[in-house]
Amino acid sequence: MSGGFNYLTELEKGTTHLGGQSLVFHCHFYNCQLQEAIEDGMGSAAPGVLTKAAVDTVSPQLRAIADGATGADLLQRAEQLFAELGFGALSLGALGPDGGEAVSPHSHYAMGWLATRGPRETPACFFPAGFIAGAFAVAHSVDPAAVVVTESRCFAMGADDCAFTVAVNR
Ligand SMILES: [Zn+2]
Repeated sequence: MSGGFNYLTELEKGTTHLGGQSLVFHCHFYNCQLQEAIEDGMGSAAPGVLTKAAVDTVSPQLRAIADGATGADLLQRAEQLFAELGFGALSLGALGPDGGEAVSPHSHYAMGWLATRGPRETPACFFPAGFIAGAFAVAHSVDPAAVVVTESRCFAMGADDCAFTVAVNR
């Protein structure tokens, strides 16, 4: 696998890892079907489960690509990783140590949901929210459990992009 980071690809096994986490690439049909099944099955618990799963998976990957970077430098690396893994475009530049707003002008989950299922009445981007929480936590050495990311607008709901409010419980 090409890209800017130290992916571990084992050709014999056909596997790719980053930060000890296995990477498997799925299309929007798969990812949105999986998300819909979890939302249908878990109801109001689904967003928290989906977001925490992303935090737990992404945080080791971000620590692996940190290479000494912290703060804004690490958030730039996180933006690059998000795009390399096919999750879309992410802008974390407006985040400071106390949080702020992150924007995804092109979210795989929101665009995929709209393309396969039509508009939603609630935000779609639980994985991106968890990715942002994990990136912020690693960049600012904060416990990921203390980072609260709320999607304030979503492309899948008819907005022009997706926006996320990042806050820290200190
Ligand atoms: Zn969204």
